[in-house]
Amino acid sequence: SINIFWLRRDLRLNDNAALYHALKSGKPVLPLFIFDTIILDKLEDKDDARVTFIYQSLIELDQKLKDLESSVLIKNTSPKEAWVEILEEYNVDTVFTNQDYEPYARQRDQEISQLLAGKGSKFCTYKDQVIFDRDEIMKADGTPYTVFTPYSRKWKEKLNDFYLKAYPVEKYLQNLLKIKLDFPSLQAIGFETSTLPIPGKEYRTVIADYAKTRDFPALQGTSRISHHLRFGTLSIRELATAANQSEEKTWLNELIWRDFYAMILWHFPQTIDHSYKSDFDKIEWRNNEQEFEAWCKGKTGYPLVDAGMRQLNTIGWMHNRLRMVTASFLSKHLLIDWRWGEHYFARKLLDYDMSSNVGGWQWAAGSGTDAAPFFRIFSPAAQTKRFDPKFEYIKKWVPEYLDPFKYPAPIVDHQKARERCLAAFKKALNN
Ligand code: FAD
Repeated sequence: SINIFWLRRDLRLNDNAALYHALKSGKPVLPLFIFDTIILDKLEDKDDARVTFIYQSLIELDQKLKDLESSVLIKNTSPKEAWVEILEEYNVDTVFTNQDYEPYARQRDQEISQLLAGKGSKFCTYKDQVIFDRDEIMKADGTPYTVFTPYSRKWKEKLNDFYLKAYPVEKYLQNLLKIKLDFPSLQAIGFETSTLPIPGKEYRTVIADYAKTRDFPALQGTSRISHHLRFGTLSIRELATAANQSEEKTWLNELIWRDFYAMILWHFPQTIDHSYKSDFDKIEWRNNEQEFEAWCKGKTGYPLVDAGMRQLNTIGWMHNRLRMVTASFLSKHLLIDWRWGEHYFARKLLDYDMSSNVGGWQWAAGSGTDAAPFFRIFSPAAQTKRFDPKFEYIKKWVPEYLDPFKYPAPIVDHQKARERCLAAFKKALNN
């Protein structure tokens, strides 16, 4: 019999918890990836950059495996179908995989573990995606934290070398199953290659100055590695180690935000489509479709908002400051349901991660755990003055912004939109 290492959002061979445990078990290990048609059939763009990124990361991984006389087994169907086929082809002792915290993944894993149990195979999951998960950081009364600062304090108190240590996978690679399998083309999986440039893995250079540069979108002040964290092409333990070794701890804090939102999603899975503060679901959103369209396309007449949206549409990434500004603008200035914006980001972001995206959107709308207070409404003009004072970022993405013939007038007046928002929020929240 063999063991299977099921790759999902951990597309690397180094420092991988589930792979390490699979290889150490002593049985030959076959790596597997399923292009899950339940997820892929929902994607709107045939040249979706995430699919290309996953595909290319797997090609690289397969090349490394081929150098070791092994291969990754690729399936392109629903997980259930895939596992039925695999169990017919192979005698599987144990499946090793890394824990995934999203509601769909939890349900999928429960179904697959039952299917495996019915055939006498075991299903083992490991923590790999975050430093602390689920119930590891809890309040003294045993309930989850819903405010970031005390959570992060406890997170830092608990951190030690044990949690940061890399899994020495390389020691056991000889236990990979020797097998030669073909790798399908991207077209065979139903997709086309995206031409979007994908940033590399260099992050160390930004850590020291991060606190000073991170809020200025015209600078290269952030690491641009979020997609690598999303798909596990970089290890969170490696990043947290580097962040923790630095005197400057602001970047470490960002990694803690990521753990925080993953923990929130685990404990409050309903927040993917319900406001965490339930009164916010009583807000009478205007949901004007033309205005939503203008926001999506970066044609609101607010140059900072438009620059952010055009950056997103063009490169599949948006600077964090702009994610806050554009999300606030949609939910507050336009009074459009935060879920519409969350879905749009989900379609466009290369680093789309349900926990951080829902967390970020609910933060901006004011409806989430530890959110910005609802009466704090970003003024695009004030944000521009503070964070893009020389209009460098705006000029890059909205070069026509000073030309009244080419650039549209604002779709809403800031002051009026502010008052309308406060009235709508107060009504729903009975304030
Ligand atoms: P850096 O600033 O270099 O930070 C390093 C890493 O820390 C990031 O790669 C990311 O993994 C993590 N991180 C940083 N800030 C946050 C944060 N506020 N919350 C959680 N993790 C953070 N991040 C995603 O990874 N996926 C998303 O879908 C996503 N959607 C967002 C939506 C909104 C409305 C907002 C306000 C934020 C969202 N973020 C999301 C968080 C943040 O904007 C991105 O992680 C960051 O911009 C990625 O760029 P970077 O890699 O250069 O980050």
